[in-house]
Amino acid sequence: MKWITVCGGGNGAHALIRTLLLRGETTHIRLFLPLVEERIRFAEAVSSHSLFEARVAGEVYGVASNRICVTGDPEEAARSPTIIMVVPAFAHEAILSQLAPYLAKESTIAALPARSGLEYQARDILGNAGCENCSLVGFQTLPWACRIEEFGHSVIIHGTKKRVGAACLPRKEIEEKTEVFSTLLGMDVIPYRSMLELSLANTGQLIHPGIMYSVFRNRLGEIFPSEDEVPLFYASVDEAAAKVLSRMSDEVITIKEVVEERLPGLKMPGVVHLSRWLDEAYGEEIVDTSSLARKFQTNQGYQTLKVPVKKVNAGYRVDVTARYLTEDVPFGLLVTKGIASAVGVETPTIDEVITNTSAWIGKEYLVNGRLIGRDVMTTRAPQRYRIDSLEELVRLET
Ligand code: NAD
Repeated sequence: MKWITVCGGGNGAHALIRTLLLRGETTHIRLFLPLVEERIRFAEAVSSHSLFEARVAGEVYGVASNRICVTGDPEEAARSPTIIMVVPAFAHEAILSQLAPYLAKESTIAALPARSGLEYQARDILGNAGCENCSLVGFQTLPWACRIEEFGHSVIIHGTKKRVGAACLPRKEIEEKTEVFSTLLGMDVIPYRSMLELSLANTGQLIHPGIMYSVFRNRLGEIFPSEDEVPLFYASVDEAAAKVLSRMSDEVITIKEVVEERLPGLKMPGVVHLSRWLDEAYGEEIVDTSSLARKFQTNQGYQTLKVPVKKVNAGYRVDVTARYLTEDVPFGLLVTKGIASAVGVETPTIDEVITNTSAWIGKEYLVNGRLIGRDVMTTRAPQRYRIDSLEELVRLET
């Protein structure tokens, strides 16, 4: 019997559980759910259905539910040699802190997806618990677009990526880890050369806060009377918004170039301009590639996705508490800003997006473009972990 621990009970966790059990006949899952209500609901669902199912393109695939053992005990969760967190980045700290006292030095702890700056946080928490030697794997994205169909029982997989990028600490284990996870996930896991590359290659940090700011900043008070009238998110990018996104991406490319110039041994080929990334990620799904705005407007994969909204009395209003801001800013853009600051690169457009969007959600990260706002300590900016130079950023990577 091979035990793998999955941390999380949301959409991604359902898809991961089904994938791991389908691919490994002897695999059993320790499902670590520290949130009590969720744990009770999941355990009840597992015991009342003999199969745990996934619906993929109309076909249903089931695996035996009794291969899932739900637990709230971090000591038991830490017993599996491989532990995978499938939760939003703001939950990594709570999970890592609970598991850290029980991890062994041969444990592998992975975050699917990692978002940015996972390595600073993990090294801090694991180091304080004396288990800094265990391996850390960060994935660039969740491999599935998925939604729970029935909690604890079935999930709909809308799409599966062909490949997913991953970085690893210590760096020398990357080949071994990508091979292991390729087998577990049943897809190509492409190695990134460093966690720094993974953090800077995070395009969600540009696209999500960038569109929220540049497209929707003048529509925050607007009420959309019905769901049908809620505007599309990505496809609403016009020429002016595309300029903002492009400038944000240019600033990331400058950070990459400065780092590569100062450390010629550290190449980051995965950090590319947003325009090129769209081409590579979506290929022929984009109908008109003549400009960045047109790529967003004509990407077939983006045609149904709307701006996040919340229900209000008269209809719907843009939801500024959605993860596009509460995950992608503190665990994305703030990390990039911190790296820029550590290597002496100015990021005026990224600063503008952070300053404005954080004010919408009552957070203060930047003061006059400096990382000294009262909420920096709730982000993964490297400065939170007393890392403020290129040397300190890369020292972690060994
Ligand atoms: P979700 O909202 O469905 O699940 C969140 C889960 O996180 C909860 O069910 C809970 O188990 C856990 N959690 C939250 N706060 C916690 C805490 N304080 N302590 C312990 N556990 C906690 O999210 P999801 O859809 O599974 O997404 C997971 C990640 O994947 C996110 O980063 C998301 O942005 C990303 N992602 C999801 C999709 C998708 O299709 N679902 C696609 C791309 C990326």
